[in-house]
Amino acid sequence: MLRKRIYKADVPFPYHMTEDGNSRVHVSNVLLDAINREIVDCTLCPRLNEYRNSVARIKTRRFRDEAYWGKPLTGFGDPSARILVVGLAPAAHGGNRTGRMFTGDSSGEFLASSLYRVGHASQPTSLSAHDGLTLKDVYITAVVRCAPPANKPLPSELENCSRYLQRELDALRNIRVIVCLGAVAFYQITKLTGCGRKKFSHLAITECGKYMVIASYHPSRRNTQTRLLTAEMLDEVFLTADQLVHRRSEVAEPS
Ligand code: SF4
Repeated sequence: MLRKRIYKADVPFPYHMTEDGNSRVHVSNVLLDAINREIVDCTLCPRLNEYRNSVARIKTRRFRDEAYWGKPLTGFGDPSARILVVGLAPAAHGGNRTGRMFTGDSSGEFLASSLYRVGHASQPTSLSAHDGLTLKDVYITAVVRCAPPANKPLPSELENCSRYLQRELDALRNIRVIVCLGAVAFYQITKLTGCGRKKFSHLAITECGKYMVIASYHPSRRNTQTRLLTAEMLDEVFLTADQLVHRRSEVAEPS
């Protein structure tokens, strides 16, 4: 049975993890702890440091009474996950405010409701780091950990931050399927997994070494309001991910 784990660290990471007690998960936890400690202290990208700090200081009217996180974001979810969800970057007043990926903005709401419908999330909302949301068999991360101006990281910033994504891939030993939300995430993952440049299209499936990579439109407000991405389409992405996980598991462990 999955149970909530209290995160013991000097830094009060604002997210929840789950564990099932097996040793692979323990190894993943230890490695993720080390990666996460480095991430929250990272200052490799001066432009992003300055931007996320200024957003956290100035705030927006709607959230002017809230304390913003204002630091790089770690991934969150189930360390024994077989599905990795990779987004672009925290939103200035979403993740950069709440301290958790895909939390406190419309993209997070859209993603959480889909994960809930397909059975990977404990609740259909993602409002704050302490809202009780837990993920089952899914870990969420992003190609860039600091909110970028206009949601557009520079190539050098993508390159800087890829070290953390690479290390997460190494630490999350059960991952079989990677769901990339948006073209930038897709290109970074295909590059990191040695697949080279592949064409992005929604629901395209690419085999990259030991991973099956699924491309999806990002659940940004613009994409969902224009219905480029609907709830049904995102559900289909995760149902496809589940099918691929089971197919890969059958190949790995023949009966
Ligand atoms: S984007 Fe990544 S590499 Fe750049 S400062 Fe933030 S955490 Fe560090």
